[in-house]
Amino acid sequence: MLRPVLDSDNSVLPAGAEPLWRVSTGSAAVLGLRPAALDAPPTTAYLMLGERCSADCAFCAQARTSDARADQLSRVNWPAFSPDETVQAIAAAAERGDIRRACFQVTQSPGSHRMAQQAVAALAQVGGVPICVSIGVSDLQEIEALLSVGAQRVTIALDAATPELHARIKGGSWERSWRLLRAAAGHFPGQIATHLIAGLGETEEELLNLAQTLLRMRVHIGLFAFTPVPGTHLADGQAPGLESYRRVQAGLWLLKEGLSVVDAWLFSGGRLMDYGATGDALAVWLAGGEAFRTAGCLDCNRPYYNERPSGPMYNYPRPLMAQEADREIACLLHSLEM
Ligand code: SF4
Repeated sequence: MLRPVLDSDNSVLPAGAEPLWRVSTGSAAVLGLRPAALDAPPTTAYLMLGERCSADCAFCAQARTSDARADQLSRVNWPAFSPDETVQAIAAAAERGDIRRACFQVTQSPGSHRMAQQAVAALAQVGGVPICVSIGVSDLQEIEALLSVGAQRVTIALDAATPELHARIKGGSWERSWRLLRAAAGHFPGQIATHLIAGLGETEEELLNLAQTLLRMRVHIGLFAFTPVPGTHLADGQAPGLESYRRVQAGLWLLKEGLSVVDAWLFSGGRLMDYGATGDALAVWLAGGEAFRTAGCLDCNRPYYNERPSGPMYNYPRPLMAQEADREIACLLHSLEM
């Protein structure tokens, strides 16, 4: 079994040494890098590059002024390993069929683009899995550079669904990110993704309208539930209500599957009241509960990013059991008073 080079903090790395890659605890277990008990193994290898981020998103453990641990992102810890060992471990896990995608989360810092390109190139050379890179970009050339060394997809995270929330929670300009995202979606069709976080203060109507626009632009959407993380500025915030999150998940699913459009839905004060379909039709569309699984790139299941293993389960990281699916659909219909 391979051992982590460092326990958790890159700061003890000798001067001039190759930067380490952080690997989520669950990914490290699937890759055989570090043992951990898993009841829901990740099917994507989640990797993090870089030190503390120069950006200052209020929800993020890696934010510039966050007091969260340096090896944390969302609810997950990320021990550090050597890039070579990690690449070999991913190749072996891909061959076993245990890992079907790799995703680099890149913190913003001097040299982070060069580091990301080198990392993508190193992993792509070994091959075996499609590679996503979630990174702050300032122009199309930076996206092109990542795609040209082997990334399948580049993610420009909007996170917040409205310009006002973006300004308050992330700082910077939502419009600027939006313009870049739109241009990128046009230049690199199908190769651009974004992240949306439900529960930052937006309404269901705002988030789902945005989701529909993004899907029409062929932008892939990773949906997250806001998770208060100790040490961050929003540590005392509230996760979204589960019923509201289910309405958003179901709405996103109906849009993605082409089963409905936002214009057919009824909202009251931004809350979704009616999908413009009978309860029976909704139950058929949502049968099996796929809508309540983690939404994102193919094979991205992000176990326990947003929830404790004891629940409540915002994003199911695996297929739902029949009784789970029935319960979630009943809960959704109840929240719509059907
Ligand atoms: S949806 Fe998942 S795999 Fe895709 S960029 Fe986001 S975290 Fe990575």
